[in-house]
Amino acid sequence: MGRIRILDDRLVNRIAAGEVVERPASVVKELIENSLDASARRIDVTLAGAGKRLIRVEDDGEGMDRDDALLALERHATSKLSALEDLEGISTLGFRGEALPSIAAVSRFLLRTAVEGGVGTEIDVRGGRILAVREVGLSRGTSIEVSSLFFNTPARRKFLKSDTTELAHIVRVVTRHALARPDLSLRCVHDERVILELPATADLGERIAQAFGTELRRTLLPLDTRREGIRVRGFVGRPADASSRRDAQHFFVNGRLVQDRVLSHAVIEAFGNTTPRDRHPAIFLLLELEPALVDVNVHPQKTEVRFARAGQIHDAVRDAIAACLGTAAAIPDRVPGARCAAAPGATRAVLRYLEVNERAPGGAGYDAPAAQGSPPPTPATDLTTSAETRAESVATPPAAVPLAQYLDSYIIAQDREGLLLVDQHAAHERVLFERFLAQAEENRIEVQRLLFPVVLELSPQERVILEQEASEFARLGFVLEPFGGDSARLEAIPALAAGLDPRELVRALLGEAVRARAAAAGIGELRRKLVTTAACQAAIKIHHRLTFEGMQRLLDDVFRASSPTTCPHGRPLVFRLTLAEIEKAFHRR
Ligand code: ADP
Ligand code: MG
Repeated sequence: MGRIRILDDRLVNRIAAGEVVERPASVVKELIENSLDASARRIDVTLAGAGKRLIRVEDDGEGMDRDDALLALERHATSKLSALEDLEGISTLGFRGEALPSIAAVSRFLLRTAVEGGVGTEIDVRGGRILAVREVGLSRGTSIEVSSLFFNTPARRKFLKSDTTELAHIVRVVTRHALARPDLSLRCVHDERVILELPATADLGERIAQAFGTELRRTLLPLDTRREGIRVRGFVGRPADASSRRDAQHFFVNGRLVQDRVLSHAVIEAFGNTTPRDRHPAIFLLLELEPALVDVNVHPQKTEVRFARAGQIHDAVRDAIAACLGTAAAIPDRVPGARCAAAPGATRAVLRYLEVNERAPGGAGYDAPAAQGSPPPTPATDLTTSAETRAESVATPPAAVPLAQYLDSYIIAQDREGLLLVDQHAAHERVLFERFLAQAEENRIEVQRLLFPVVLELSPQERVILEQEASEFARLGFVLEPFGGDSARLEAIPALAAGLDPRELVRALLGEAVRARAAAAGIGELRRKLVTTAACQAAIKIHHRLTFEGMQRLLDDVFRASSPTTCPHGRPLVFRLTLAEIEKAFHRR
């Protein structure tokens, strides 16, 4: 008795229909999905001519008996769905019974399949017409061979891109399935060359290393959280390692690779402004949740889903990533972006500095800035001081301890893992940004009245912006009153910005607001931009000597920040030289 049935019309009409076969990669995708649905443990993909000439997918899954094999080629024949209610909780990758007939209609198609202990069946199809059905000797599993794709639809064949492009699409499909299922053995051969060899592993990290190399794997941060029945696990890249490639982001929902705006948005929010807009952190996120909470029946190629409780899922993903980015592991341990080339040079620079310091015992001068003739601490320096910070740093041992300051600009510190080099300006920017933003968000900005209010001449554009965003400026602690004609009087500024030239600061903020307006930024983004600008101006600059206490406070504050590895503009603020790397440099290991 076969398992495959033809869906009734009512059900067919409820299924998102559309073109399934667009290019060789879509064939590979559908065939791999079928193999997975048949509980395959290993899948071999053989290609010739970037899949245009030949695609063969072989699996060791359940296989089909003769009747089922014939039925599988009919439209809307599936073993995975039978009643309307089933659409509510689909746990297989396929469900609409369209792939095999659609593929067979536009190719030369050879299906060979056998169930455990049964006799094998071979079906030869050409352009959708069955040419022959034979009995053959086969062991359990299925092999589907698709040659001369689109031989009978020249228009579609013409739309195919170069071999390189089509092959790249296929490799992406295979790789992504491999990531979704590390327990699967996958092999892909193209024109007789093995292009992917991915043995089964229990571990997603290991699979990532197989597919993308150990270097990427080493820099990824693991996460695994469970909340309200939603499990979020996988790996995310460190903000400082984000690249300009968008396709480094992978989302899987119950083992299905999806593109999804809710999930992408959660990532953007979690990374916030730890990464610049045009940089994309690597993401490997596996979501597991009840099938009933995911509607997979929204897209003909099944690459999009719709979530019930989307808000909850969004927040669970965002919080899981944000928590993971807040850990010390998020610190890159080499010069980001210029790894191989810059690391040895940077290593030498740090080592040279330490050597010099050895000869100047005690590192004299670092805790006595005034004696060195450097400027007295500006109010900006004091911004790192807060009563709570000091109280806490006594109670818990600091995560990072300052050793010295290099060129009055970079703090050299140590933590459990190695030496840290911290850009003091970027670090302070990060601290001020988060503090300022939190205060603004909770509407509790501390305001400082100006002794002498400042009158600002405004351009028409600035006046419009100030009128439109009056409440936003007020929320950030800037009290501005109309002052006749084109002027405004600045009466108060946020306490965090005390000591800055108020005129310059407001000018910079107005400029930022005009730009944000032009870019149609939402209020949240406008606020972050304004806060970024204010934090940048208020942060200690480079070439500014700090006391050891000041350095310790800054380190404490920055490593307590929610994104302690990049400044609000998205530039890295710290990198680490691990003990292992130091020992290697000295040939101690
Ligand atoms: P769907 O996957 O949506 O059910 P397909 O046209 O892709 O539709 O496949 C039709 C049916 O053929 C499947 O439901 C399944 O029963 C059977 N089938 C297809 N590929 C395989 C395979 N590799 N191993 C076992 N059965 C398969
Ligand atoms: Mg299918």
